[in-house]
This record gives sequence, structure tokens and C-alpha cells, in this order.
Amino acid sequence: MKLLIVGLDGLEPELVERWNLALFKQRSYGRHYVGILRTLSTPLLWGTFLIGRNVEELGYDVKTMMIRKNLGLFPLPLKPLYWLRVKLLPRRLGLRRVLRKMGLVKEYSACIMPRRLIDMTFLEKLKSMGYSVHAIEVPGYNETINEKYRNMVPRYISSPFIVKLKTLMDILEELKDRVKEGLEAVERGFDIVFVYLPMPDVAHHFFSKGDAKSMRGLRRVYTRLEQLIEPLIRRAYGENYVVLIVSDHGFDFQTHDHSEYGFWSLNIDDFEFHTITDFCPKILELFERKESI
Ligand SMILES: [Zn+2]
Repeated sequence: MKLLIVGLDGLEPELVERWNLALFKQRSYGRHYVGILRTLSTPLLWGTFLIGRNVEELGYDVKTMMIRKNLGLFPLPLKPLYWLRVKLLPRRLGLRRVLRKMGLVKEYSACIMPRRLIDMTFLEKLKSMGYSVHAIEVPGYNETINEKYRNMVPRYISSPFIVKLKTLMDILEELKDRVKEGLEAVERGFDIVFVYLPMPDVAHHFFSKGDAKSMRGLRRVYTRLEQLIEPLIRRAYGENYVVLIVSDHGFDFQTHDHSEYGFWSLNIDDFEFHTITDFCPKILELFERKESI
């Protein structure tokens, strides 16, 4: 058995249904509850997806995540400076902004879980069982550049519609490389291929008002996203992969923020996922089942 996971950040179950996006709605599909976390933060949610347990209960919450992420911004000699600031001064000093202007800290960092949690992910468990894994930019696990897209939200939130749409289409163009890399991994026959895209979540935040114009923009993004991943999905079907399309949460246009339900779909009908912690044990079960045959 082989598995392709396409992680589409924030893909909203209600919009997939409303616009009847056939590629996303595979043989079985539904929504899964993610509200078990106190903070519906993308890297924490993907970490929970990968481990099958609420990472906040494992000592990895939004505060620890931010400290680890910010430490990653500083070059080695300046890390103790940031650490001292965290320990001694609860208030923000604007230190990072000053150092960034001086070119001493990086523009963006990555949200990667501590090693002890990485080892608990189904990706690492499957690797230790001898399966080959190709994971591309998975938040909490091996991302390098996703933060660049997350950081764009405050910069463009007040931009004109056309600028937002153009920016989103440019991001989708950049993401083509990830899809291509995933397609090549499928062709090379990796047992598990995981392609993560930070879309459509960035688009939800750009168009968070939810008025008619915003929804037109969002629909363009959803449609383009579907076109973007189609060759990857079709190829995986051709190579007899089990294909899981999944999001870490949806979007609530009332609160203008992440909602408590993510989307999932599968091209087989043996499984159903009710909460974000269901994926890890069921994915492991899929591979264990195959081993026992
Ligand atoms: Zn997310």
C-alpha cells in the first residue's frame, strides 16, 4: 500500500460543498473536529494531526512554539540575547524589529516541534518500520518557508481586491514547485508522500470579510488550487496510491478566524475521521494491516 497526503491549509468543508469541487470530494469525505486545542494555530494543529494527540497536552503550546520559532530567527551568537529577553522581560521591546533592520535577524523562521515530538509522528514511525517517506514543507515537522506566507497576511489585509487576488495567484504559482516535487516522489514510488500547501488559508485571511466580492476572490483561489493539484492526484490514482486530502481547520467568516472543523477526503471507503487525532492511528493501521497480509 502507498499513501499520498495532500495537506491544504484551512480548506473549508462548507465551501468545498457549496462550490461542488469534485476533485476534493473523493469517494468518502467529511469534516473532522479540531476544537480540542486551546489555540487553533496551524503548526500546533498539524503537529496534533501527525502525532494523534493534542500537542498542547504534550507541553508544546503556542507560547513554546513562538519561543522556538523566534529563536530560529537569530544567528547563533545572538540567541542568548533573545533568550535573556524572554526570561527577564515579559514586555515586547521591538528588539527583533531593530535587529532585522540591521540585517542581523532573518525575515522568517520555521515552526518545528522538539525532537521528542517529531519522533512520535506517524511519519517517523513509518520510517522506522522501513517505509520510505517524502514529506514536503509539513508544518511542525520539516517546514522551512511556510512562515513567509503566514507573514504576508497583515501586510495585505488592507490592500485593494485586485492586489490581493494577484498576490494569491502569485503564491499559487510559487507552490507549483511543491506539487511537481510531490508528483516526482509518486513517480519514484515512495511509500508515503506528503505535500503541504499553505493555501487556501492565506486567501481566507485576505478575504476574511466574507462579503460577495471576497467570496468571488476565494472561489477563484479554490478553483485554481484544484487545478494545481489535479495532475498530482490523477498520477497517484494511476499508481494505486491511497489519497488523503486534508485540512487542519476551516474558516469562520463571523469571527474572521480559523474554525473548529477541518476537511478530509479519501479515495477508499474503509475509514472515517471524526477528530484531528483520528488520522495518526488510522494511517498506522492502514500500513499495519498491509504488513499482516
Ligand atoms: Zn492552518
